[in-house]
Amino acid sequence: MAELLSFRSLYASDERHVILAGLSLHVDRSETVAIVGESGCGKTMSIGALLGILPDDVSITAGSIVFDGEDVLSYSGRERKTRLYSRIGFVPQNTSDSLYPLMTVSEVMTDAYAHSHPDVGRRQAKEKAAMLLSSLGIEDTGRVLSLYPFQLSGGMKQRINIAAALMDDIDLLVADEPTSALDIHIRRQIETLYASLSGREGLSMLVVSHDLGFVHSIADRVYVMYAGRIIEEGKCDEIFSAPVHPYTKALIELSRMKTMDRAHDLPELGRLASAVDRESPACAFLPRCCCRRESCAVSVEYACLSDTHFVRCVL
Ligand code: SF4
Repeated sequence: MAELLSFRSLYASDERHVILAGLSLHVDRSETVAIVGESGCGKTMSIGALLGILPDDVSITAGSIVFDGEDVLSYSGRERKTRLYSRIGFVPQNTSDSLYPLMTVSEVMTDAYAHSHPDVGRRQAKEKAAMLLSSLGIEDTGRVLSLYPFQLSGGMKQRINIAAALMDDIDLLVADEPTSALDIHIRRQIETLYASLSGREGLSMLVVSHDLGFVHSIADRVYVMYAGRIIEEGKCDEIFSAPVHPYTKALIELSRMKTMDRAHDLPELGRLASAVDRESPACAFLPRCCCRRESCAVSVEYACLSDTHFVRCVL
């Protein structure tokens, strides 16, 4: 499969901390890739680096992000808008706040699209919006398009955000914690929706989530992130049926026990990921690892277990 997106040894820091510590990953065309890990591991910052929406005090210090053969970090703000945003759709974490309260669904979906496609009339844009809503399982699209965000349920807001992201003929859909803050019933619906999108020809997806059940149901490949870097990667089945890194094993075990509703709820793992020295060549997971040995404090290489399965652990 041809590569669409890659992060290559990406480093990012704020004034006091290293946030991304040599992040490398890739997404192929028509592939669904998930990044999993606790809050604070750098998942959302990775997306911020790609889309140019990092907090003001965070800067990229080394590495590159290549999208369809071009280094997006070299883009000006204007180039990012014209060359990147029309090809990458983004569904933010808090979908409730992401819809402008004074705009109807129709305006939310068509305003940016009409602006970037001056040759397309409002009516045509609205027809496209209605068609997209319908393809995402929304009935009575005419009525829904006339509603304001406060008139929508949490699940409906998720759907509207996804539909808005798909208004352009995008190559990549990026979703940040798509199932967080949803009740179990709505979560199932959104899961089904993403599963249907993940099989869509020509559409790649990069999903950031701590919801391993959701990831298992939609991803082709999974990256496990810890302290700003990838500590295990593999095909979905490899990660879920034969995890190797102690951290991956713990995440999966906790997920199976249904105790991982929130990333902070990981008492068995002790301290959070942000507390470690992300620049050290030693294993970042060492302070929390029940399997640690002396060599883990020196340096840990990224080892190959198969063509597709890699792990950063001496075990
Ligand atoms: S390298 Fe050592 S400390 Fe790190 S996860 Fe593996 S066994 Fe644990």
